[in-house]
Amino acid sequence: MALIVHKYGGTSMGSTERIKNVARRVAKWHDAGHQIVVVPSAMSGETNRLIALAKEIMPQPDARELDMLASTGEQVSVALLSMALLSIGKKAVSYAGWQVPIKTDSAFTKARIQSIDDARVHKDLDAGKIVIITGFQGVDDGGNITTLGRGGSDTSAVAVAAALKAQECLIYTDVDGVYTTDPRVVSDARRLKTVTFEEMLEMASLGSKVLQIRSVEFAGNYKVPTRVLSSLTDPLMPLEEEANSGTLISFEEDTHMEQAVISGIAFSRDEAKITVMGVPDKPGIAYQILGPIADANVEVDMIIQNQSVEGKTDFTFTVPRGEYAKAMDVLNKTVKEHIGAASITGDTKVSKVSVVGVGMRSHVGIASQMFRTLSEEGINIQMISTSEIKISVLIDEKYMELAVRALHKAFDLEKA
Ligand code: ADP
Ligand code: ASP
Ligand code: MG
Repeated sequence: MALIVHKYGGTSMGSTERIKNVARRVAKWHDAGHQIVVVPSAMSGETNRLIALAKEIMPQPDARELDMLASTGEQVSVALLSMALLSIGKKAVSYAGWQVPIKTDSAFTKARIQSIDDARVHKDLDAGKIVIITGFQGVDDGGNITTLGRGGSDTSAVAVAAALKAQECLIYTDVDGVYTTDPRVVSDARRLKTVTFEEMLEMASLGSKVLQIRSVEFAGNYKVPTRVLSSLTDPLMPLEEEANSGTLISFEEDTHMEQAVISGIAFSRDEAKITVMGVPDKPGIAYQILGPIADANVEVDMIIQNQSVEGKTDFTFTVPRGEYAKAMDVLNKTVKEHIGAASITGDTKVSKVSVVGVGMRSHVGIASQMFRTLSEEGINIQMISTSEIKISVLIDEKYMELAVRALHKAFDLEKA
């Protein structure tokens, strides 16, 4: 007998019929003698619908109230799934985050989990119940409902698995695993049987939304065996077969069977670039520009400072497109007058494409192959950033899909 956490995403919970299928699948695992905790997302489209409603009332919704609203989607899901299980004769109970409780900080709309009380859940499991806990939400010290950021149910599931010391966390979604790139963009993308934790962390942070980055961090920090697999298969398929399907996140590099230098290509469409021109080239300048941006809670990604000419330099960096207006506002209010920049310009039509692979550590020439491929397609690189296991480039958004497809081919990532 094992304790296993299942997570089902929005598509997997997308209709009452799908919820009944989730219940059949969960019941199969429970019948095999396992203790099961299920963490579902809201039904597909529901979180978007709720956020859109909020914006009709208040264009920049109050963050606390937005969390109060957005978290309701998951409450609907857990109750429906619990009913689906009860109606096929299983014992089940559903909880909202605050009832467990899943404690978070108070950063509304992007809260971080601080602790999870496992007592109530273990008691229910020991009483033979299937426990269903809302994804995406928690509660802060003041008793306010918080949410964990878009895609946050992945993080809820892995954190619950870590807190309960589960044997495995199974992330059921609308694809049958982690692919070399988003299969919706490259049709001959290949599923990976295993992906190392480090690669998954890079891919998630570079835009592959198949897993929320914090879920991968939890999996790494607490060594939670995590697998991504399909919820759209026959729910009554043999359990053994299902248990070995999908993609396993592995913690040991040498179990990385596929041995490719590049494991995958990640992309993020919604980037924005900001250039501060003609600033004095002196110590502290980067801090003076980026300090106020960080204080406004805007995440800065790629950064370039140019060679100085006659004591003046240009400074360019990227931010998520959704935060562009806020970043520009901060720069225009604070930085422009204080440091005497000649001008501040921006471009919101840029995207980031990255190649990722632990094999890069032992191979040279990956960057040049990447740059050659892009040049052959006539794609101009605006910025570059690298780490030991990834190379990212910023390009015009209209070439993003072309770049992903060309790189996928150039690095031989297609189906065998
Ligand atoms: P869920 O609702 O189950 O959480 P998401 O939509 O958040 O599902 O994530 C699954 C989606 O992630 C897939 O439908 C796919 O389009 C996208 N995706 C992006 N990159 C990858 C990748 N490398 N491998 C698999 N899926 C990917
Ligand atoms: N329902 C939330 C969202 O749409 C959380 C999730 O799906 O993981 O972002
Ligand atoms: Mg998701």
